Amino acid sequence: MPTYPLPELTIDKAYIGGEWRHADRRFTVTNPANGEVLAEVPDLDADAARDAVAAAEAAWPAWRKTPAKQRSALLRAWFEAIMAHQEDLARLMTLEQGKPLAESRGEVAYGAAFIEFYAEEAKRMAGETLPSHGADKRLLVMREPIGVVAAITPWNFPLAMITRKCAPALAAGCPVVIKPAEATPLTALALARLAEQVGFPAGLLNVVTASRPAAIGEVLTTDPRVRKVSFTGSTPVGKKLLAQCAGTVKKASMELGGNAPFIVFDDADLDAAVEGAIASKFRNAGQTCVCTNRFLVQDGVYDAFLEKLAARVAELQVGNGLDEGVVQGPLINAAAVDKVQTHIHDALEKGGRLICGGEPHALGGTFFQPTVVADVTDAMRVAREETFGPLAPVFRFDTDEQAIAMANATEFGLAAYFYARDYRRIWHVMEGLEYGMVAVNEGLLSTELAPFGGVKESGLGREGSHHGLDDFTELKYVCIGGL
Ligand code: NAD
Repeated sequence: MPTYPLPELTIDKAYIGGEWRHADRRFTVTNPANGEVLAEVPDLDADAARDAVAAAEAAWPAWRKTPAKQRSALLRAWFEAIMAHQEDLARLMTLEQGKPLAESRGEVAYGAAFIEFYAEEAKRMAGETLPSHGADKRLLVMREPIGVVAAITPWNFPLAMITRKCAPALAAGCPVVIKPAEATPLTALALARLAEQVGFPAGLLNVVTASRPAAIGEVLTTDPRVRKVSFTGSTPVGKKLLAQCAGTVKKASMELGGNAPFIVFDDADLDAAVEGAIASKFRNAGQTCVCTNRFLVQDGVYDAFLEKLAARVAELQVGNGLDEGVVQGPLINAAAVDKVQTHIHDALEKGGRLICGGEPHALGGTFFQPTVVADVTDAMRVAREETFGPLAPVFRFDTDEQAIAMANATEFGLAAYFYARDYRRIWHVMEGLEYGMVAVNEGLLSTELAPFGGVKESGLGREGSHHGLDDFTELKYVCIGGL
């Protein structure tokens, strides 16, 4: 028996074609805070993935013909069911992912907001009529659902990364096959249960759980019935899936890794910058694609910023996400701890200065001390690689041009942050940053109301806002002649 009781919404079966599916082969889901097994879920294979695609394909004709107002009402009902179970979902998420309960509650609300938003957008998916090139012709542009969507999602946001894809897909009239991360399938299954309870037709939403993702990914990226793959995860896996999609010319959107700079200029409000830094770096124990990977601080405020940052970092309470007051939970697994340690050792070997932390936490397991390293340079691995953990490396710069060049010196381009007050500087830097998203005097920027996504090797496509529907629709041009 696990130490912490499992919420009622905990389900240990996959969901395909409106049925809860068992399998002889199963894999375990563990609590990263104490290593306990929470559940065993079906370890499905390629055949099951094909079944899910077939179920989605079968559900498509009726769903695409369902009036927008009805699609909207069903999405709205799903949103309400999720919010009615916010506490249970949050608890389940903290149990399987480790993040503090307050963050899990926030993720449920954030993730559900995509469903609320796209329930409305479903009613606004309009086409257009265009001026014609002939007196006897009329030109129409229809906006149609693309077809079966495959959603492959990561463990760091077990709920929101699913709803960010499913809500616009369903709103547009597309059925979905979800392949959740192997570390966090329980939240995905709970979402499916709520969808079933509010009356989703069989096959509209399917969840394929598996511990060997490549076999499932192969089906989802090569089966011609799947018309769109939406992936969130690491850049290497994204590249592989993109190449696999080429064989059937599937539309693909890719939300991939980042290497976010957080620039502090000498006219910044340093206290505000430190608060922004804490939110953008240590949320989810630094396991966020948009989390700061590199702090770039101008000479004149370098020491003052470092001192204030270290003082705030020292206050961060590490522990089990279910415990009151905890703001940093465990890392997802031992490999994540290894990566953080490797980046710290590499930086210290090459002349970095340890300001605080630097070691696994006394709590053991995968808990790690929030860490700050100063005097970081381009020669260190943290300059180029995503750490995905609670390490704040602090670089130094002199001029604005230097800061922009350092910020852009990466193959990634997801999110960037900077703190400054001079309005000319703000415009200049904002325009100079080669990123899909820029936060100015803000440490958090994700919202369902704005387009989320990256440039360069951080990805393709956008999720959220009215732009988020584009990836799930096709334009059909119709020319009516002989009038
Ligand atoms: P990952 O790439 O290892 O896994 C992501 C998903 O892909 C999981 O469901 C996994 O099972 C699946 N997968 C892995 N190999 C596969 C294969 N060969 N075929 C098909 N599916 C496969 O990434 P992760 O470790 O779960 O997540 C962390 C990464 O995700 C980080 O790089 C982070 O920056 C990125 N991320 C990006 C965004 C964004 O919106 N840009 C959001 C969250 C996380």
